[in-house]
Amino acid sequence: MTLKVDLRQFLDEKGNLLLLTEQASTVFKFLSEIVLSVSQESGVHSIEQPFNSVNLRCSTRGFALSCLGDIEARTSSSGTIEWHCDTCEAAGTILNWQGSLWDMQKSTLH
Ligand SMILES: [Zn+2]
Repeated sequence: MTLKVDLRQFLDEKGNLLLLTEQASTVFKFLSEIVLSVSQESGVHSIEQPFNSVNLRCSTRGFALSCLGDIEARTSSSGTIEWHCDTCEAAGTILNWQGSLWDMQKSTLH
């Protein structure tokens, strides 16, 4: 099962974070950490990257989760971030993260 998330779902037109429920902000924090880590490490590229550990526990995704697996993530050739847990079935993709506040690519570009 893959959790497909469009980062813009969490943002207003100016790119600021919307007021989220506690559950949603937990999920968002998890996702934004992945974006930060992946965009920082890989920079701009168009080739398929290997999965890298992003220093997040699987259980960070939600309150009731107890999986202590490590999260690995990469950007795919289409620019989508893909992540998965190295222990359980949890996996997902993140769309439209480029240019967001959590996109670290910019600082290396300009
Ligand atoms: Zn897991």
